[in-house]
Order: sequence, then C-alpha cells, then structure tokens
Amino acid sequence: METIESCELCGAAATPLLATFDRFGDLSLRPYRIGRCAGCGFTFLMDRPAAVELLASHQQEEYDPFLSLKRERGLYGTVYELMRDRNLRWKHRLIRRRLRPGRLLDIGCGTGEFVLFMRERGWDAAGMEPSAPARAFLQRRGAPVFADIPEQGAYDLVTMWHSLEHIPDLGRAAAKAAGLVAESGLLVIAVPNIDSADFRAYGPCWVALDAPRHLHHFRVSDLDRLFAPHGLARVGQRSLPFDVLYNALESEKLKARADGAGSLAALARAAVRGAGLLAAETLRPASAASICHIFMRRRAAAGLGENGQGGGGESAKPH
Ligand SMILES: [Zn+2]
Repeated sequence: METIESCELCGAAATPLLATFDRFGDLSLRPYRIGRCAGCGFTFLMDRPAAVELLASHQQEEYDPFLSLKRERGLYGTVYELMRDRNLRWKHRLIRRRLRPGRLLDIGCGTGEFVLFMRERGWDAAGMEPSAPARAFLQRRGAPVFADIPEQGAYDLVTMWHSLEHIPDLGRAAAKAAGLVAESGLLVIAVPNIDSADFRAYGPCWVALDAPRHLHHFRVSDLDRLFAPHGLARVGQRSLPFDVLYNALESEKLKARADGAGSLAALARAAVRGAGLLAAETLRPASAASICHIFMRRRAAAGLGENGQGGGGESAKPH
C-alpha cells in the first residue's frame, strides 16, 4: 500500500476527509482514507494498493463491469444487463447527434460491449483494457483491443466510460488520451460526481467511492483543469440517466450491511431515496450522480462558435 499525500492536479498537501472500506470485503474494516487537497479541493484515495493488487481488486467475482465473464447471472445480473443495454443506446444517441461514424477508441472498455455495439453501427471501434480476461473476451468477438493506451493515433472519438477514475497515473493518462483525439474529434468522459447529492447522502457508504478501485473523485472543474493544458475545451455535459438509481440501490445495500440491517428495508429505502435524488439531479444537473463530459480541441471548438454552429452549448461537431 502506498500513501498519496499530495494532489495530482496541483501538488498541494491533502488532508483526510473520511475513511471507507472495500465493498467486496469486511465493511467493519475501513483501511482506505479519502483525502481532499488543501490547495484546490481535488478529492482522491490516499491509501492506494500496489499495481498488482489494484488489478486483482478489479477481478472480483461480483464486480458488475465484468459480468459478461460470468456464466450464471441470476435475476440481479439480468436486470443489470437490461440497464446496460439501455445505457448503450443512450450513449449511441449522444454520439450520433454529434459525429458521423469514424475511428473510435474506448479506453477502459472492460468486456467491450460499447465497442461491439458501435462496430455494429458502422464505427471502426477498438478498445483498451488492462484486464487480460476481459481483453481475451473482446478479442474472441473480433474487436481489436490494446493492453495500454496507445502512444500514437488519431481517433474521431475517444471515450472513457467510468474508467478515468481507475487509472493510477492521472496526468499521463490525460495527456495520452487527449493526444489521440483527431483535430475535430471528441473526447467523452463519464465519471462519478463527488459534488453529487448522493455522495452527500451516503458519505463512506457511497458506492461510487469504490475503494480501492476508484482512485480519483472529480468535480466538473477538476476535469477542466486536467484537460485544458492539453488544448481541450468542454463543449457539453450530461447527467448519466441510470447512475443515480444504481448508486441509491447499491449504497443503501452497503449502508444496511454496515449497520447490520436487513436488505429488504434497504431496497424500499433505495426506491424512495433514489426517486428523491433523481428529482434533485433533474432540478440541478451539477449535483448528478455521474456526469458525462464532452471535450474537443480548443481550436475546433472556437471554430464552431465563430460560424454559429453551436459552440459552447450541447452540440459539438455538425454532421
Ligand atoms: Zn490540488
């Protein structure tokens, strides 16, 4: 275990904010401190496992993103897969409004459902995934997949769906991802929002703290500061529609386990609280459970603004 004392964004010292657990382990142990930078307010995991343990922590039997590797899924797995399908369609609509099919790299693609979905819709899509079993699963389905972020390339679309928060060297990952975006391409990043109503509601039991897998906890401004030095500007942001309900359900289950309470009551509470949180994020998108951030090269974004084709707003590249 390594202790990260200083902020990866500004270098100032961090102070511990709260202690949390690995949700796949003993919840009474809280070995992981979440810290907040005294200089800029960036929030991150202070107690970080070594690289090998970090990779192993993702290969839990119960870890949802790798569900496709399991043979028996049960009712929960079936519901998760249904939601994942709705999610894929939502992501495709988001992209389709902004870009024609072209070259796509999905960084942290897991078992590659998004890569395959986009390939079926005319995209020349590849994935990047550090987990060898997940990579093999996608390769067997005929899609190209890298073990690390490639050093070179030009992609019309680079996506990171809930993966940036998992990558240890944040500065290097951001530089490499930004470098792969073609001149008028897009970088689309979805991450949990530490500024969310559900983090405030659940604290150490917020499922998206997900220690030790989640290393960084972003606000909107943190991502702007991370990508601005690489010439990227924000051209849009959206709330991820299903994450607030998933977070409410999983966080209530964790809270019930931590308190030694029954899981049926947790389900009922999740329904009530999830509805409340969903209403809150509809009224105030900045408090959403997860935010999908859309970046583009500053020059290209400025060009859109000048010729009046939607710069600065929700649309990015005209068809
Ligand atoms: Zn800082």
